[in-house]
Amino acid sequence: MVCEEGKEREKGSGGRDAACGPGMLLRIGEIELLLLRKRIRNLHLRIHPPDGRASLSVPYRMPLEAVRAFAASKLDWIRRKQTEVRGRSLAIPFSYCEGEGHYLWGDAYPLRLIENGARAQVELVAGEILLHLSPGTPKEKRGSLLDAWYRSRVREAALPLIALWEPRMGVRVDGVAVQRMKTLWGSCHVRRRRIRLNSELAKKPVDCFEYVVVHEMAHLLVRLHNDRFRALLDRFLPDWQARRQRLDTFPPRPHP
Ligand SMILES: [Zn+2]
Repeated sequence: MVCEEGKEREKGSGGRDAACGPGMLLRIGEIELLLLRKRIRNLHLRIHPPDGRASLSVPYRMPLEAVRAFAASKLDWIRRKQTEVRGRSLAIPFSYCEGEGHYLWGDAYPLRLIENGARAQVELVAGEILLHLSPGTPKEKRGSLLDAWYRSRVREAALPLIALWEPRMGVRVDGVAVQRMKTLWGSCHVRRRRIRLNSELAKKPVDCFEYVVVHEMAHLLVRLHNDRFRALLDRFLPDWQARRQRLDTFPPRPHP
């Protein structure tokens, strides 16, 4: 998710993690592409948010030289697209100062710094994110407090959502981990029935978050992003493509 915008393990590679499999890395100039061989007829070149990683899906039988030639002919496009995706995805660096806008579940709230020396704590009260901390707490510490708060929000929201979807999908999730990740919105360890969610998801609209959760849970039924997988998503979340699109483009620029 984005692993779907993410890495995908090749069939038969004995993978245990649906979202994190190594394809072959193809290097052309300064550009690296994850090469995925699939049962497809056409090539698919994708640039993935948030970091602009490039992947190229090609038919099983296509010779490597032809693959390289194709990729080389697309270098300009890849560079342009990577710049665009990174510019859109990478957050404008936060300063975590008074009044700065931060998102929770798709809505922006101003930060209020309450430097009263009380126990460090974050809470959403009356439309503001209150950051209780000691006077002079450095920016990095303010940021990590907020990150921890986002992690808790994702965990708190994930549990009931998983409980809701387990009977609908006929699967069982045995563990949920939440952490900040650079390249994936989520991943699924199929054998252990564990899903991992990106804490940054707390900033996205809830329907996007639900899409990631359902996507990862769907890997418990189908490991790969193949037609069967997409059919499952179509069945459970008919508007999943719109949700995925929104996940990658939210928040709209400019950032508050
Ligand atoms: Zn996936």
